[in-house]
Amino acid sequence: MSAVEQSDGAPARSLDVCLTFDFDAMSLWGAMGQTSPTPVSRGEFGGRVAVPRILDLLAEAGAPATFFVPGHTIDTFPELCARILAEGHEIGHHGYFHESPVGLSPLQEKRALERGLETMERRLDGYRPAGYRSPAWDLSPQTTELLLEYGFAYESSMMAQDFEPYWCRTGDVFHTDKAFEFGPEIELVEVPVSWALDDFVDLEYVYAPPLILPAAKDPGAVERRWLADMDFAAATVPGGVYTLTMHPQVIGRGARIDIVRSVIAHARGLGAELVTAGAAARSWVERAPAARDSQATV
Ligand SMILES: [Zn+2]
Repeated sequence: MSAVEQSDGAPARSLDVCLTFDFDAMSLWGAMGQTSPTPVSRGEFGGRVAVPRILDLLAEAGAPATFFVPGHTIDTFPELCARILAEGHEIGHHGYFHESPVGLSPLQEKRALERGLETMERRLDGYRPAGYRSPAWDLSPQTTELLLEYGFAYESSMMAQDFEPYWCRTGDVFHTDKAFEFGPEIELVEVPVSWALDDFVDLEYVYAPPLILPAAKDPGAVERRWLADMDFAAATVPGGVYTLTMHPQVIGRGARIDIVRSVIAHARGLGAELVTAGAAARSWVERAPAARDSQATV
C-alpha cells in the first residue's frame, strides 16, 4: 500500500493503473508504407495471436483495460474487437489508418476522425468511444477542439504531467521571439502518456529510414523501469494515474506477455486500482477544478 496520507490524516486515494493496448495491427505498418507480406504478418500477429492471448490473461486476472483501435483494425478484425467490448474492456479511437493528425489537412483530419467513429458504430453495434489517442502521439493545432466537438471526454497522447491528468488546451501559439502563449483550457481531459512507459520503442525492431529502432533492450530492464515508475507514482502522486502503453504485437509475443502479469500483480501489491482510461478520466473530473482560461496566467 502507498504510505501517503492526506494532511487531515485520512488515507489518500490510491493510484489508478491503466493498462492500455494500442491494437494497430497492420495499419501501423501500412501508414509507414510497409505493405509487403512480412510487415503485414507482424500486424496480423496482433489480431491472430496477441490480442486473444492478452484477453485470456486479463480475464484470468480480472483486470480491465483500454484498447485504442484504428478503424482499419476494426474493419479487419471485427469479431475480435467485439470480444474486447464483450469482456468489459474499453475501446478508444485511434484514427482510421493510423494517420498522424500532424500530416493531415484540417479536412483530412476531420474525415479520419469521422471514419473511425463510423466504423465503430457500424461494426460494434453503435459503440461510441469516450477517448481518443493519436496515432504516433502527436496532435494538430485543431485536434483538441475537434475532439470536443465530436463529444470525446478524454485524450491520451500528451506529456505535460507524468501521473496526473489535466485539462487540454486549444489555441496555443508558439512564438519564437517571445514567450510561448498558452491557450484556454477546455473540458477535455488529458490522460498523460510517456515514451518511458511504452513497449514499442524499447522492444520492437523497426527499419523504416529515417526511423530505425534497434529494439535491443532487455525486457527485464524495461519491466523494472515500469514497476519503479509505478512505485514512484504511488508514493508521490496521491490519487494519480499511471498509464502504461503497450502494443499487442510487441508485448504479446512470446515470454514478454509475462510482463503484463507482473504489472498487474505489482499494482495489486501497492493497493492500486486497475481501471480503464475512461474510468480514470471520469474519476479525475469529479475531483478536478473546472477548466479555466489559462491565458490569464501568461
Ligand atoms: Zn498506434
